[in-house]
Amino acid sequence: MTARADELAANLATVRDRMARACGEASRDPGEVDLIVVTKFFPASDVRVLADLGVTDVGENRHQEAEAKAAECADLGLRWHFIGGLQSNKAAAVARYADVVESVDRVKLVAGLDRGAAERGRDVEVLVQVSLDGPGAEHRAGVDPAALLDLVEVVVGADHLVLRGLMAVAPVGVDPADAFARLAAMRADVLTRAPEATWLSAGMSGDLEQAVQAGATHVRVGSAVLGSRPQVK
Ligand SMILES: *Cc1c(COP(=O)(O)O)cnc(C)c1O
Repeated sequence: MTARADELAANLATVRDRMARACGEASRDPGEVDLIVVTKFFPASDVRVLADLGVTDVGENRHQEAEAKAAECADLGLRWHFIGGLQSNKAAAVARYADVVESVDRVKLVAGLDRGAAERGRDVEVLVQVSLDGPGAEHRAGVDPAALLDLVEVVVGADHLVLRGLMAVAPVGVDPADAFARLAAMRADVLTRAPEATWLSAGMSGDLEQAVQAGATHVRVGSAVLGSRPQVK
């Protein structure tokens, strides 16, 4: 193995161990929590190494980078999760390569995603991203919880989208355990409307334990596997 492959293998083992321990502490079956490795800013060569190491799901947050990497790695059979802010004029393009779009936070994105999925001839899985910022906090990505069920209705009504559940990022300066507990309560609400929308994508390098405790089914881990991202822009 190359030095980079050794490094990624060791980091991956540490993350998988953290996930297994967190499941143990939460009395959950480790098979209930999937790892999405967030490869943004890192080259397709790293994605290839990760696939060799058994990674099946990767996450990207910028359209152009994601599109190029997904094309370069098309032979690997990975599931591509789009987890970044989405412009409505790019939604159709994202649906042409993403298997799961986790960052659907407004009604305006749905028609484009649905059209992209139809053109590709394959349904796209969708998570609705909710904001866990408290009232009055600076607006960040994610639908306001008050508007969540309306957005859920629109996604459920789209022909080529399959609503799988919710995604969120714990806000800076807030106890992630509290934030993820609120997210879990929102999922319970959504399940009354869309019983198959069981996924909860929550938890990153710094807070995956709290997310597993709150019921996450997917954690999105970047820096703990790949190292620090280059500080650009
Ligand atoms: C970058 C990113 C992650 C991964 O963050 P790390 O702290 O590097 O693990 C997870 N989720 C989203 C939405 C991201 O943009």
